[in-house]
Amino acid sequence: PRTAETRSGPRVLAVANQKGGVAKTTTVASLGVAMAQRGQHVLLVDLDPQASLTFSLGVDPEELELSVRDVLVGGSSVQDAVLVTDEAVHLLPSTIELAQAEETLASMTGREQRLRVALEQVADDYDWILLDCPPSLGVLTAAALTAATDLLIPLQCETLAHRGVGQLLDTVHDVRSFTNPDLHVIGVLPTAYDGRTRHARAVLEAITETYALEVVEPPIPRTVRFAEAPAYGRSILQTAATHRGALAYREVADRLLVGT
Ligand code: ADP
Ligand code: MG
Repeated sequence: PRTAETRSGPRVLAVANQKGGVAKTTTVASLGVAMAQRGQHVLLVDLDPQASLTFSLGVDPEELELSVRDVLVGGSSVQDAVLVTDEAVHLLPSTIELAQAEETLASMTGREQRLRVALEQVADDYDWILLDCPPSLGVLTAAALTAATDLLIPLQCETLAHRGVGQLLDTVHDVRSFTNPDLHVIGVLPTAYDGRTRHARAVLEAITETYALEVVEPPIPRTVRFAEAPAYGRSILQTAATHRGALAYREVADRLLVGT
């Protein structure tokens, strides 16, 4: 693993899992705000055409002049498209137009490399860049894994949670072979975790043993607070700063900051 001493440029953390609803977006927003509250310069990149991250930070995608779409397929600069949010993080926002752009991107030269190359424009501006991936293993996720130094896999510990993990790790294997040999897999982050159930613990154990993945501690507890916060366009780290869900994300962020 990289350390603060050996790396150059920002840590670029992809949060990916092709399953929807596993808390990718919640994790990106919460870790990003927690890191910013620790004084880090943080850029969040919304790579999902559904634009949930953009919405959850209080930005209306319909009002945007520029978005990540224009950076990936339109030649706009990252600086021109980045917004400063109320949460002290910067945001490269998404819009629904990214769905069509994904098709365009898929036939473009250097499609997997375009995000990585674009983010080099702002390498000196940030300590951390967090990439919120869409719920698929398409070209946007491949681009994210190519741009990333690290991968974190949020996981809800349900019976079928493991089905996607093997496929995701196959993609990681391909990315390492063809576009990003140094991609480091941090591990899985249990989200909406109910440690009181034997079932959740058993699923987590089975997945980490089958795929030899680390488990990032602490698990993020299941709580309705997470569903409420985005409605205000604010993160739980602001609306319920001392809630156990916020505390868990802050602890995970602190572990990442010391170089896990
Ligand atoms: P994804 O980006 O993987 O699709 P989201 O972050 O959008 O997932 O989360 C999906 C839903 O689960 C949202 O309604 C969110 O508020 C909710 N959620 C996220 N984390 C938790 C949690 N720890 N406990 C309960 N609900 C959660
Ligand atoms: Mg999402």
